[in-house]
Amino acid sequence: ARKSLTLLGLGAMGTALARTWIATGYSLTVWNRTPARAEALAAEGATVAATAAEAVAANRLVVACLLDDASVGDTLAEADLTGKDLVNLTTGTPGQARERAAWARERGARFLDGGIMAVPPMIGVPESGGYVFYSGSRALFDEHREALAVPTGTDYVGEDAGFAALQDVALLSAMNGMFAGISHAFALVKREDVELADFAPLLVSWLTAMAPAAHQTAVQLESGDYTQGVVSNLAMQAAGNATLLRTAEEQRVSPELLTPFMALMERRVADGHGDEDGTGVVDLLLK
Ligand code: NDP
Repeated sequence: ARKSLTLLGLGAMGTALARTWIATGYSLTVWNRTPARAEALAAEGATVAATAAEAVAANRLVVACLLDDASVGDTLAEADLTGKDLVNLTTGTPGQARERAAWARERGARFLDGGIMAVPPMIGVPESGGYVFYSGSRALFDEHREALAVPTGTDYVGEDAGFAALQDVALLSAMNGMFAGISHAFALVKREDVELADFAPLLVSWLTAMAPAAHQTAVQLESGDYTQGVVSNLAMQAAGNATLLRTAEEQRVSPELLTPFMALMERRVADGHGDEDGTGVVDLLLK
């Protein structure tokens, strides 16, 4: 028998996932709330189900890639999940993943949550470095590993269904800060005679050079000694903040993306931690 699975949700991501399974020879049953979005895939060989319940009934392995957790509940409300292996690739919170896992178990299904660390053009392109964090049923993951590895890489991070979402959202949150920094940097130079296309690679290489500082942060958080291997102490960094703020003012750029982080750095210095790295900011954030 041909390998088969069901995919619910044919948005930008769902469609990219679908194409990889079809191209690899899987028998794919799809469903989308707006049926028109399934037409192109039908022409490529997918079977289009009339309802989500029908799509779920077609295969043991059911993958959902919908907008948010509420849309997963809506979509599966009428489906019989008894004996199904449900893989939820819809982005949500760790709490939502844990609740969805319990919800699926009550309905007789095994459950695996996934957090996609890729954008659609990276799907089906192994060199892109994309992957999915998975957490929840290890047995489900092991049994369907081959199918799950078709669209992109896989990284199973634990039985707690919330772990995939936790690590997904942690990485996205870090990315958010990076984009904030990039926005501020461009604002500083934009009104000047700076070639932005030449500035961008400088920004990329600087951020790439600085990102490995995360390794040191991990070591310090594990040991509790935030002076361990310190290169640029916090007192010096906090003093440098004045230059960053004054430059923003000179360039008539709002400092609003910088100031919340600076305030935390200054609190650590005021609390007597100026000789440390910035690692202690993590502790200030823990409510
Ligand atoms: P799209 O906005 O392109 O598609 C959303 C999908 O959800 C559509 O199929 C839509 O159906 C469906 N949908 C929305 N609400 C409901 C509902 N109430 N009931 C049933 N179906 C519903 O999003 P993407 O495909 O890009 O993203 C899907 C998931 O993948 C999201 O959780 C996203 O966070 C995640 N993801 C996306 C990435 C990206 O770069 N695109 C990257 C990493 C993760 P309809 O066609 O009828 O509107």
